[in-house]
Amino acid sequence: MISCLQEDKVRLQEELSVTEPRGQALGSSPQSQGTTDLEKHLEILVLENDRLKQELNGCQLQLQQLQNSLSGCTNCEHSKENTLLRKQTTDLQLELGEKVQLLAELEQHLKDVLQEKTEREERLNKRLRDCHLALAKQPTPSVKYITKKVEVESSRTKQDLEEAHARNQYLQEQIAIQRRLLAEQEQQLQDSWRTSAQLQAQIMMYEAELERTRGEMLETFQAMEDEKNQAIEEVFLQARSEMKTVHENLNGVRMNLLSIQPALKTLTSDYNCLKNHVRDFPCLLQDAVNQTKREIYQAVEEAQKTNQDLLRKYKREMQLRKKCHNELVRLRGNIRVLCRVRPITPEDGTGLDTRNIISFDNDDDGVLYVSHRGKTTMFELDKVFQPRALQSEVFQEVQALITSCIDGYNVCIFAYGQTGSGKTYTMEGSPEDPGINQRALRLLFGEVAERSADWDLTITVSMAEIYNETLRDLLGSDPQKIEDLTMRNLLAKDPSEKLEIKLSPDGSGQLYVPGLIQIRVQSVDDINKVFELGRVNRATDFTNVNERSSRSHALLIVSVTGINLTSGVRTTGKLNLVDLAGSERVGKSGAEGPRLREAQNINKSLLALGDVICALRSKQPYIPFRNSKLTYLLQDSLSGDSKTLMMVQVSPMEKNVNETVCSLKFAQRVRSVELGTMVRRAESQHCSSRQDYESETPSAAAQQGRLNISHSGGSIVGKTTTGKRRLMASGEVNHRPAALSAL
Ligand code: ADP
Ligand code: MG
Repeated sequence: MISCLQEDKVRLQEELSVTEPRGQALGSSPQSQGTTDLEKHLEILVLENDRLKQELNGCQLQLQQLQNSLSGCTNCEHSKENTLLRKQTTDLQLELGEKVQLLAELEQHLKDVLQEKTEREERLNKRLRDCHLALAKQPTPSVKYITKKVEVESSRTKQDLEEAHARNQYLQEQIAIQRRLLAEQEQQLQDSWRTSAQLQAQIMMYEAELERTRGEMLETFQAMEDEKNQAIEEVFLQARSEMKTVHENLNGVRMNLLSIQPALKTLTSDYNCLKNHVRDFPCLLQDAVNQTKREIYQAVEEAQKTNQDLLRKYKREMQLRKKCHNELVRLRGNIRVLCRVRPITPEDGTGLDTRNIISFDNDDDGVLYVSHRGKTTMFELDKVFQPRALQSEVFQEVQALITSCIDGYNVCIFAYGQTGSGKTYTMEGSPEDPGINQRALRLLFGEVAERSADWDLTITVSMAEIYNETLRDLLGSDPQKIEDLTMRNLLAKDPSEKLEIKLSPDGSGQLYVPGLIQIRVQSVDDINKVFELGRVNRATDFTNVNERSSRSHALLIVSVTGINLTSGVRTTGKLNLVDLAGSERVGKSGAEGPRLREAQNINKSLLALGDVICALRSKQPYIPFRNSKLTYLLQDSLSGDSKTLMMVQVSPMEKNVNETVCSLKFAQRVRSVELGTMVRRAESQHCSSRQDYESETPSAAAQQGRLNISHSGGSIVGKTTTGKRRLMASGEVNHRPAALSAL
């Protein structure tokens, strides 16, 4: 087919080459040739052109058919190339169409020009004829004129002719251009034929490749088919064996099913039974609820009974606990003597005499050793606090004593020791790390709150100072200085006023300190205010507070009164926290004047304290409470069921060794003293039984009363007590007080 098309193409080329000279002949025809020749040529050309167009169309049609036959191969590179060629051919066709149209337009134009020329020729011929006729009729001059006119018109005609020639020339050029274009298109057509042939060859090659691939695929397919058959066979065999197992299992399951059936029957009957139960359940539930309610009421009643029983037992146990506690304290001794060794601080300096001379026993916290001049002395006390001991640790040791004052016991805590050994630090402490005083009151607040359901407890405090055997209230204040009116009424009093300890005028034998202010405290804020007032008053008239404090005894007296809300039992406990004056023996150093008097008074009162304790320990009939203001004031808290704790403060430095040894000897001596049988000082408003009491004075003994200081509304009043406490002392003759310095 392609060869056939190529033949057609050659033929067309030949024909074109024939047509070309003809066109050239048309272009180069002499001007002398007539219009009819031109027309004839033009007609021939048009016919040739038409024929060529038809043949070209035929060729394109065939090309189209050929391309269609090749369309089986899609998407390959050749088909893309083919598509490109087809597009080019279409473009060429479009271009050819345009050229043909242009040619047709040119032909039309040529026809019009020829027509116009013919008409003009005819007009000219007609005029020429008319002119000839007129000439024939007219004389010669007119002929001349006509000739001239004809000559003139002839030049115009010539000009027209030239124009026509020029146009003809232009048209021939156009035809030449069209021919060239046609030749180019022919060339392109040839190229496309060539490409088409190449494509054909490639298609054939691909077909061969396809055939080969198909053969290979068939082989592969065959192999796969074989494999598949083999796999199917294997799977079949496996499935058969599995099927066998399943069958066996099925048989097992069938057997199981047969055995389950009776169980199912039982279950069904159970289910029916349950259904019946469920139907009856609301009634049963109601019955059960009623029954449970009855049982609960019964249980509640029983619980209430048990509760009451337990409460009774609890109260009994509490009594027992207190008894046991007291017994424990008794076994430990009513006087406990502890020792606290203060640390060496940077303020103490670095000299040789600031060396530490105290060591401790790691296995026994009641022992300490003082090494001096190559000799080591051992001291045994109830407990020794080493320098690193915290305020809280010290307080922990004394807090049981403090709570016992809520239970109605009188308690005394003394800080004993030379000046600078840490007495005030232990009792008062610093605002950041308070001592026993503040911690005790905090503890009491806590206890009061805890017991508030059963007890109505009131805490009051007094602060007093004994200086030079004179008792002074530290809470009295100059009325001018007090802004708060209620406080002014309460505290309006000259702070330097001396207080006396007197026997109650009612003849009850009670001691009475008229005017000693008591302030009720309920919060830490309250105690801070009270302490501050005490501190300010203590500083009055003295430039150096420390100096004053070292030469006077400071007392914080805390009274706790309570009424049991259920039983009506009243208790009164008193906690005396005493920061004693410095125990150093100033008198020996040859002091004079007021300093000597102070020293003598301090010595006297500390001697009296030691004597009282010794007398108590040795169960002497007479206890010399009256030998000092301090012992006289504290006699309640030192005798009978009272509890006493002596905190002996010592300095660990070499320079203080003498005073340290003195203090420790004093501590050891008082440690073994027993204060008598402990009985809780509780009194009941309804209790009518009275016991005989011995008193330290013959007159008091004669009245068979006891001395008890109790405070009310800011003053101390005498009051008869029906408690069970027995005072051990009676009479003051025969007593020979032991000097402290002799300890
Ligand atoms: P006292 O009241 O016996 O004269 P202080 O309580 O005033 O002695 O103590 C003297 C100094 O030693 C104070 O500066 C005090 O802060 C300090 N001090 C005493 N004991 C301790 C201690 N356990 N820890 C730290 N410093 C102490
Ligand atoms: Mg002090």
